[in-house]
Amino acid sequence: MNKKFNYKYKCSSCYSIFEADKIESEMIYICPLCGNVQQNKPLKGVLEIFYNYDFLKKKYSKNYFEEITSGKIWLYPDLWPIDFQLYDKSLLNLLSLPQNQILHFQTDKYNLFFQDETRNPTNSFKDRATIAVVLKAIELGITEIAAASTGNAGSSLAGICARMGIKSHIFVPKNIPEAKRIQIQSYGANIYIVDGDYDEAFDLCLDIASKNNWYNRNTAFNPLTIEGKKSAAYDIFINTKGEIPDVIFIPVGDGVIISGIFKGFSELLKLGLISKLPKLIAVQAEGSSAIVDYLFDEKFSYKPAETIADSISAGAPRNLFMAVKAVKDSLGFGIKVNDDEIISSQKELSQKFGILVEPSCSASFAGYKKTITNFTKQEKIMLLMTGSGLKDFNSLKLWNEMPSIKSADEWKNILATK
Ligand SMILES: [Zn+2]
Repeated sequence: MNKKFNYKYKCSSCYSIFEADKIESEMIYICPLCGNVQQNKPLKGVLEIFYNYDFLKKKYSKNYFEEITSGKIWLYPDLWPIDFQLYDKSLLNLLSLPQNQILHFQTDKYNLFFQDETRNPTNSFKDRATIAVVLKAIELGITEIAAASTGNAGSSLAGICARMGIKSHIFVPKNIPEAKRIQIQSYGANIYIVDGDYDEAFDLCLDIASKNNWYNRNTAFNPLTIEGKKSAAYDIFINTKGEIPDVIFIPVGDGVIISGIFKGFSELLKLGLISKLPKLIAVQAEGSSAIVDYLFDEKFSYKPAETIADSISAGAPRNLFMAVKAVKDSLGFGIKVNDDEIISSQKELSQKFGILVEPSCSASFAGYKKTITNFTKQEKIMLLMTGSGLKDFNSLKLWNEMPSIKSADEWKNILATK
């Protein structure tokens, strides 16, 4: 079999299987049989990539992963739908992520592991998806990529595209935090601000990208976004030497990060490298909680999202069904937190741990604090920190007033003890 196609695509709704050659040469994103994009609704027919795990089991042993470093997906190439042989090593190295992102705090009060994704090339988890999407685009000979984004996916695509010499088009809602907008512009991307919410930006991007033949990085819609995000599970596996956490708190908006992480750990299970999945806890904001609500009553009803945590603000989570499956199959649960809890957790994370994150990540910490009694002290708990706090100044301003300004002499009078 050609290395290029040692994988196939499977529909997560109707379970039909498709040859990779057909899906990729025809630039198909969602299931050709049942796939359905409707305004303000979760996507139907999201495609998932799968491999011959029984065959790969022989190749990828625990020893194999002990000898490679994290942050470089091309070091275990047969678990990716990308032909890495097409690329020069120095070019791939431009896409390396930091080697060990785990911070472990062990105190009387806490025994916590943080997976710190704020040090990625554009300071968010989204780089994991973008790397896979951009490598696939180059492989397909495409030179322009589009994405709808609340900010992080857009700045990630803009930054990685700038690094790889590709043109990017980013559709964002008008409430995008200023720092994220400026980050996107700084990388030289074309930015289109939609007078509406993320869901409207998503639908517009689908329409324009297909009319202009741009490759589409819309999250969940492009199967490579879920695939790219699975790399976090492999990196956690590599960095803990197989002693993975028992529980992982994940901030959830569209449902793609949790689905990607679930896929990564499910693959590690299929490869016989771990014996059980970590429980995945979906944390959502009260004003954007469609996935947690669905876990309770199996119903979706669209409500415009309203939360300070813009990165997890999605009224119609596009990957709702897969995210729900990730929580259920991993024996996790969903939890909602309000904006006040999110902001006070942001402050606590900064001041007690020195981790400055945006509100979506502090939602993870807020969710952890609310449910701490569900876990034993022996359980290894990890919190996923998906984006830097410097991406959203307004939330930081809520608890950092402008200090007073005085002359040097005045400060001397106040501060000098001798
Ligand atoms: Zn289908």
